[in-house]
Amino acid sequence: MYIIYLRKSRVDSGAAVSEVLERHERILQNYAKSNFGCEIQENCIYREIVSGETIKDRPVIQAVLNRIQAEDVEGVLVVDPQRLSRGDLSDCGTIIRAFRYTNTLIITPTKTYDLSEKFDRKFFESELMRGNDYLEYVKEIMLRGRLASVSEGNFIGSVPPYGYDKVMVDKKPTLAINPAEADVVRLIFDLSTRESMGAGAIASRLNSLGFSPRKKDFWTAASITEILHNPVYIGKIRWNWRKTVKKYENGEIVTSRPKSDKGTWTLTQGKHEPIITEEIFNKVQSETKNHPRIHKTKKLVNPFAGVLRCECGTAMSYQPQGKSEPRLHCPHQQHCGNKSATYKEVEDAVIQSIGTVIEELKAKSVKTKKDFGYNDVVKKIETELKTLESQQDKLYDLLEQGVYTNEIFMQRNGKLKEKQKQLEKSLENARVLAEPEIDYEEKILGLYEVLEILKNPDADVSTKNTLLKKSVKEIRYTRHTENHTKWDNTPFTLEVFLKL
Ligand SMILES: [Zn+2]
Repeated sequence: MYIIYLRKSRVDSGAAVSEVLERHERILQNYAKSNFGCEIQENCIYREIVSGETIKDRPVIQAVLNRIQAEDVEGVLVVDPQRLSRGDLSDCGTIIRAFRYTNTLIITPTKTYDLSEKFDRKFFESELMRGNDYLEYVKEIMLRGRLASVSEGNFIGSVPPYGYDKVMVDKKPTLAINPAEADVVRLIFDLSTRESMGAGAIASRLNSLGFSPRKKDFWTAASITEILHNPVYIGKIRWNWRKTVKKYENGEIVTSRPKSDKGTWTLTQGKHEPIITEEIFNKVQSETKNHPRIHKTKKLVNPFAGVLRCECGTAMSYQPQGKSEPRLHCPHQQHCGNKSATYKEVEDAVIQSIGTVIEELKAKSVKTKKDFGYNDVVKKIETELKTLESQQDKLYDLLEQGVYTNEIFMQRNGKLKEKQKQLEKSLENARVLAEPEIDYEEKILGLYEVLEILKNPDADVSTKNTLLKKSVKEIRYTRHTENHTKWDNTPFTLEVFLKL
């Protein structure tokens, strides 16, 4: 038994979904007819339309993988290997294992892969990796289109900032003032400039007055800070593209969108009306810079000041406890539910986390230098292009010998041409990337410096703080527990975000 797996992916954008799937199905059914003598039955055809790239996000591919494991399937027909996975290495591994150990063939119009064969496996793997490069390239192109829209002053985000509604003017997305919310925005700026209130105090004031933010039940210092610093309120558009970062947590891939550094923002004049004057906005900016709060008469006591933040976005504050050990706690504890920890516990965990990050960076730097260097990708693609050429020569031979009809020749030749075009594009892209980008060594050295000084109890606290901030942008702290005594043993987790 053979089955067909069809998938519309982002790369096909432009053509309608059904069109793409139908076209692919025709190609595969033609192949089935001429190679197996009959078409594939409907109950063996799987169609998937998703934007997700990982197996986790694609229920239909999961069904296919389950079926080849449960039933005796000889092969799965796909138009090209990247239909199965264009994702990360771990997904490639899952696909390869599933086909390899069930002895299921992967059949494409140009090549059949038997993954129990070492050579086929290698070739298949490199096809998948190429798919990934190509996808990255497409994403970049899409991003450029969005940037162009921002530079015209449009608002392209999906959620309008508090104080505005998203509207379409001349078919372009922009913002219109939401009068009720705009009043609250003005009040926030007012409390900050006239009454010199901090973000936390403003949040409490709004909560006590019964104003609530759009989706949550109460204001937090973080949400107020966000508003006080958002130039959208003076009529600008800030495009801080938040990259989706994927990482492993408890064996699962978790995606997050960390905030970009200020340096990566694009700021343009928007088409929308301002709510706040530039004078007031600038006054707030100069008064509320992101300095750690140091009392004038006291020395800095917390090496993590300005770096360690609670999951809810609030800076963790340092509390001396008289005779017992000092603790770190989130001032918004009653809202976010994150319990405190002793300074010593956090310090030990930070040292451990930074050690892990160093190991990860080391692995990455070796990888980029050796295994997955773009220079190797360039060479790989060049070899593949040569293989394509010889495949094309062979096609002509087969046509001349009368083995192929004109129709089959056109179909296969078209396929090769398409592939060639794709490869040339990827090659161009890979060549651009072939230069090393990140200086991992410098980062690793910086982190070693942090480790050294954190481990030294006699070192100066503000030097610790300065060194830490040189390498680390943020350390995020999470500790949820139902146990309300502060001495319980629920472990906390730390996430380290490096400065890039
Ligand atoms: Zn918190």
